Amino acid sequence: MKYNRCGKSGLLLPQISFGLWHNFGSVDIFENGESIVKAAFDKGITHFDLANNYGPVPGSAETNFGTILKKNSQGNLRDEIVISTKAGYTMWKGPYGDWGSRKYLLSSLDQSLKRMNLDYVDIFYSHRFDPETPLEETMMALDYAVRSGKALYAGISNYNPEQTKEATGILKRLGTPCLIHQVKYSMFVRQPEEGLLDVLEEKGVGCIAFSPLAQGLLTDKYLKGIPENSRAFNPNGHLLLEDVSEVKIQKIIALNDIAKKRNQTLAQMALAWILKDKRITSVLIGASSVSQLNNNIESLQNLYFTKAELAEIECVLE
Ligand code: NDP
Repeated sequence: MKYNRCGKSGLLLPQISFGLWHNFGSVDIFENGESIVKAAFDKGITHFDLANNYGPVPGSAETNFGTILKKNSQGNLRDEIVISTKAGYTMWKGPYGDWGSRKYLLSSLDQSLKRMNLDYVDIFYSHRFDPETPLEETMMALDYAVRSGKALYAGISNYNPEQTKEATGILKRLGTPCLIHQVKYSMFVRQPEEGLLDVLEEKGVGCIAFSPLAQGLLTDKYLKGIPENSRAFNPNGHLLLEDVSEVKIQKIIALNDIAKKRNQTLAQMALAWILKDKRITSVLIGASSVSQLNNNIESLQNLYFTKAELAEIECVLE
């Protein structure tokens, strides 16, 4: 594993990080998740990403991750891994379990620490911009989380370029620089190229790309229809059946042919394609099995693209 500096901070993150959005809830098989986390760490993946609401049920991914850590850490693993969590989406009933108030963020962080059985997380994120809470208040909550020792770094996710500029400015003034922005970025989701990546580079903020495989679309999984063991088929999955459209399938087939010529799987090419941009600190993948994880890590064997390959990919994506 290679480790990249996260923006202009002192923190190094693995080129591939692992997220527990799917496959780690109370509805999933615990031992499968445990084997994936162990395999990831063995391969040098030192960064694990969570959020208060990951499950289902919401919160259960954090509980399961805490159990995995306790069972396998032998006391000293905590200093060898970077754990992140977030608050910002709906978590509990009533007016205090959603969006970006200080009330929500700080009580949610306490709940996350309890579920994971941790004293602190490494990164605490505002999961989304809240148009109705003053940004100062949301950023002050992140600053407080760091000052109180419950988080080591502050991050933001799903903020647009203007919101990002404002948020990073406030955090800088408060003395807790924004470490990282978690953005949705893949061959199929290109918005970050329209200004956000430039803002992050200018502000010295790291960038971690989530759903880099477009939730599994950018793999060979859907080449011949929708298999039963897929996120699109799973009623708890966030990939909808209609997301697997005929237009997408045609693109996937063409991309798969390009990947074959590079001696890569489509998943490997899709991850390499993101990591070719030096503004990206890490790709944040998910996996439902150890073999998927291992396949994806192999992408690091070839991150180089010729101009002709890039042009051919653009042609398919247009
Ligand atoms: P990916 O785009 O990497 O999708 C992962 C899924 O793709 C797997 O669960 C699996 O689904 C399928 N897959 C992965 N590798 C392969 C392979 N080699 N061959 C075939 N299929 C494969 O990422 P996610 O959408 O899971 O997101 C990753 C992380 O990003 C999350 O866990 C979370 O931490 C973060 N995230 C953050 C968000 C935010 O708002 N900040 C929002 C969403 C995610 P299956 O086998 O089940 O079909």
